[in-house]
Amino acid sequence: RPALVWFRQDLRLADNPALAAAAASGRPIIPVFVLAVGDTTRPRGAASLWWLDKSLRKLAESLEAKGLRLVLRLGDPQVQLLSLAQEVGAGLVVWNRLYDPAAVERDTAIKRDLEEAGVEARSFNGALLNEPWTVRTGAGGPFKVFTAYWRAAKPMVAAEPAPVIPDELTGPRDWPAGDHLDDWRLHPTAPDWSTGFSDWAPGEAGALARLEDFLQHGLKGYSERRDPPARDGGSRLSPHLHWGEIGPRQVWRMALAHAASRPGLADDLDKFLSELGWREFNHQLLFNLPDLAKVNVRPEFDRFAWRGDPAALAAWRRGRTGYPLVDAGMRELWATGFMHNRVRMVVASFLVKHLLIDWRVGEAWFWDTLVDADLANNAANWQWTAGSGADAAPFFRIFNPVAQGERFDPEGAYVRRWVPELAGMPAGYIHAPWTAPAAVLAQAGMRLGRDYPHPIVEHAEARARALAAFQDLRTGD
Ligand code: FAD
Repeated sequence: RPALVWFRQDLRLADNPALAAAAASGRPIIPVFVLAVGDTTRPRGAASLWWLDKSLRKLAESLEAKGLRLVLRLGDPQVQLLSLAQEVGAGLVVWNRLYDPAAVERDTAIKRDLEEAGVEARSFNGALLNEPWTVRTGAGGPFKVFTAYWRAAKPMVAAEPAPVIPDELTGPRDWPAGDHLDDWRLHPTAPDWSTGFSDWAPGEAGALARLEDFLQHGLKGYSERRDPPARDGGSRLSPHLHWGEIGPRQVWRMALAHAASRPGLADDLDKFLSELGWREFNHQLLFNLPDLAKVNVRPEFDRFAWRGDPAALAAWRRGRTGYPLVDAGMRELWATGFMHNRVRMVVASFLVKHLLIDWRVGEAWFWDTLVDADLANNAANWQWTAGSGADAAPFFRIFNPVAQGERFDPEGAYVRRWVPELAGMPAGYIHAPWTAPAAVLAQAGMRLGRDYPHPIVEHAEARARALAAFQDLRTGD
């Protein structure tokens, strides 16, 4: 009786505990991916589906090279998996765990259904360094503060070797029918908004190449270079990690091995590993707070008087707020499915504090447009920026988008790249073009309000308005 390997956010062969268990069982292996439709998990955004399309093709190719076929099914996984298991007479179904509560609930129900049908079901950790329920405070509860969490979690990361995947894998004699990926139409056609996504290489090989390149060329100096957006000093592993094309334990092991063989990397390594720590922290938050993407962690924010302002929201989404750093970030996001981390913080703060628009509206836009859209990381970071989250930045700390631009993009290279209308502006004015004398604007061939918008809100006024709204929240007005 064959073993089904249910792929989800673990689209890789290496370091894949579920696949290793299926191989060790000695049963013929049938890999399956179910595009979840009609279950309780959150539907994927468009940029995520773009990524998934490419990643599934790569996974199918790697499986093919080992003599296996990836069976594709569409629908509610609870229905699809049971019917496939019965169709092929499976004796075992394995998968790597997900941690968002809707998926946990669904997967628990699937396990029960399979076991009731006489099929063994086993799940594994392929997505995290530590299982969320293993890192606890002295009092036995989950951590709410990152530094304390990481102090406890970091030493717990197991140094065990990666699970072994044999070179040869055996499939069944007869393969069950599956969908054709093309029929799922995950790739946009008219209009094709994904032309700027071509730098990405979804799939396991792309993920490994990205990590190796980062370790060779990016780890040294990472702590300083991660902040300026013009020369992005990050690893850009986030979509690969989200889809599990590489596991965090692989990243951990390879980063440690790399740093061990070269002097002077300790601080950069520590910083990089702590970013993986934030990913872990956010996943355990989501595991413990099922409504992290919907409900304020700090309940007083339920009384916040958010504004509905469709025109301002549209300007933010399109990168036409009149604040160059904000606009550059929003356009980078639309064009490439990615945005630099610091700029994410600035645009999120701008939406929530300058425009007083509910963080959930911004979270939903990111969910649709980011290739690394991740329930835990997206919701936790939005709540962090809004001030409503666990261990959050205080609401009254309001980023000044001009000062952030001057500090992190002093030459304006990032703005020039994404907001070409400002390309001719001298560095001294590029983050606040409305302060430029008429002669400077004329020389840059710019007319404000025609070529580039006036700021949709004035910073000092918006700041005062946000602080007043926050004060009302605190005094309960
Ligand atoms: P690196 O600096 O190379 O970091 C290595 C890895 O650590 C990343 O790939 C990522 O997996 C993890 N990491 C880094 N920073 C964070 C962080 N702040 N929180 C959690 N994990 C982190 N990240 C997502 O993966 N998905 C999201 O949907 C997402 N939404 C965000 C929304 C907002 C408003 C903000 C401020 C941040 C968000 N982030 C999200 C976190 C962060 O911006 C990205 O993980 C990071 O920019 C990815 O770039 P990198 O891979 O080069 O990161």
